[in-house]
Amino acid sequence: MDISVVIPLYNEAESLPELEEWIARVMSANDFSYEIIFVDDGSTDRSWDVVQELARRNPAVRGLSFRRNYGKSPALNEGFRRAKGDVVITMDADLQDSPDEIPELYRMITADGYDLVSGWKQKRYDPLSKTIPTKLFNATARRVSGIHNLHDFNCGLKAYRNKVVKSIEVYGDMHRYIPYLAKNAGYTRIGEKVVHHQARKYGKTKFGLDRFVNGYLDLMTLWFTSKFGRKPMHFFGLLGSLMFFIGLVAVMAVGFGKLWAMHHGSSYTLVTASPYFYLALVTMILGTQLFLTGFIGELIVRNSSRRNEYEIETEINDACN
Ligand code: UDP
Ligand code: MG
Repeated sequence: MDISVVIPLYNEAESLPELEEWIARVMSANDFSYEIIFVDDGSTDRSWDVVQELARRNPAVRGLSFRRNYGKSPALNEGFRRAKGDVVITMDADLQDSPDEIPELYRMITADGYDLVSGWKQKRYDPLSKTIPTKLFNATARRVSGIHNLHDFNCGLKAYRNKVVKSIEVYGDMHRYIPYLAKNAGYTRIGEKVVHHQARKYGKTKFGLDRFVNGYLDLMTLWFTSKFGRKPMHFFGLLGSLMFFIGLVAVMAVGFGKLWAMHHGSSYTLVTASPYFYLALVTMILGTQLFLTGFIGELIVRNSSRRNEYEIETEINDACN
């Protein structure tokens, strides 16, 4: 099968028939074998009825529905687990992304050798309150992830080589950082394509402004887990030792200062009168705690069943057998 189209949807009943018809038209015009996987994320409107109806008419339509609303990431993740096509395309259900982009995205994966191609809504039809924070968000994501050529991390329209979606796990709200997840899994040929974007025709957006706060927190989590997830001691140990060292220097300065003053008969005060005494106290305690956090982190990693799971690209004369 050439293409799997994965579509997460939450209360998008009005858009679905139009979207399905448009995709089917593009697919048959280009002679692609395909499937459309609708993932109903616990919609409370008629969306699931519509999907069932579409599946009756078009055998290429598949679908699953969540019992309740879990979010876009879990929906994508379930779609990815089921996708059989050589190229997997994700798009939003609200008709903001155009199915006409599919042939070129497919070509970029199969002919140009990209692992992942992300859409770039260069000209957006969204309110300003969304586009400006998005620019900031993308600039940070570029810096932190080291993927410098992407302008639009969170574009719903993306294309993947099948093995990419099988080796990443999208959970929580991590769909904003799928290119970063792919990079961490070792897929570095990440490209971009300018795509057409339209204003929402039916329904309304499902994400509020809290997306930006959560987005930044998720970015920090990803950065931390990708860098230190398997060796937390390298982070906490370093920070802890540094803190402890500062405390030690401060405590020595206080102690020796007093001894020196006593020895030379000059005037001296109680050590508790010196700010360095408190600095020493706090940093030494903090340092020890950070160090212990590192140890606990290491213990957790040791007990994780995934501590020795790696992405193997190729193997010759399979050495395990
Ligand atoms: N979506 C979903 N679960 C949710 C929220 C959104 O499956 O909990 C889907 C939604 O139906 C749409 C896509 O994710 O197909 C993008 O959502 P939306 O268009 O609201 O986001 P925006 O375009 O405003 O960023
Ligand atoms: Mg949208």
